[in-house]
Amino acid sequence: MSALVLFENEHFIADLMYARANNMLSRPVYEEVGFGNRLYMHKDVSERLLSLVPELEKMGCKMRICDAYRPPIAHIKCVEVVPIQGFFKADYKMSNHCHGTAVDVCLTDLEGNNLVYPTEVDAYTPEFAAQVAEGKFEAFQAHLKKARHDYMEAEAEAIRNREELKNLMESHGFRAISHEWWHYDLVGWQNYPVIEWD
Ligand SMILES: [Zn+2]
Repeated sequence: MSALVLFENEHFIADLMYARANNMLSRPVYEEVGFGNRLYMHKDVSERLLSLVPELEKMGCKMRICDAYRPPIAHIKCVEVVPIQGFFKADYKMSNHCHGTAVDVCLTDLEGNNLVYPTEVDAYTPEFAAQVAEGKFEAFQAHLKKARHDYMEAEAEAIRNREELKNLMESHGFRAISHEWWHYDLVGWQNYPVIEWD
């Protein structure tokens, strides 16, 4: 646990999606396991995020953080609630969130309103969760294309914002993944072990 830090800074908004009920799980799993809306991450990640502050100030933006360190116990519960392959890694060791080296983020204005993006942060919304629970995957699969970095059919402003976020993060020690525009891994994440929560 020593490598984790509790992250609090006025330029960032802690809004952990699994601490509220309007998510893929339709349940506040982080609350259920006693973790709550507490924004922890590896200290190396917090240093990279803090290095963004001058640019956030220049842009007149804040950053909303919708997931960061995820306790393994919470990840296991997520898999129990949605046991469908492709949503949560079956083995928590495979999730960089459990290593404290991943963040799910977007930019907001100074009042905390999200900028426009091709989807919500985490496109796995409750409505799709309900469909998937009934075995209907079609609309959801179509929607997931919009979460990709190579999806170019969104409005120009949404694409611009997505690309601006990517440039910002990748110039500060993070790496994007192709299929979730909001997810960023710390460069070198392979060298960081899972962090247990106690
Ligand atoms: Zn993520």
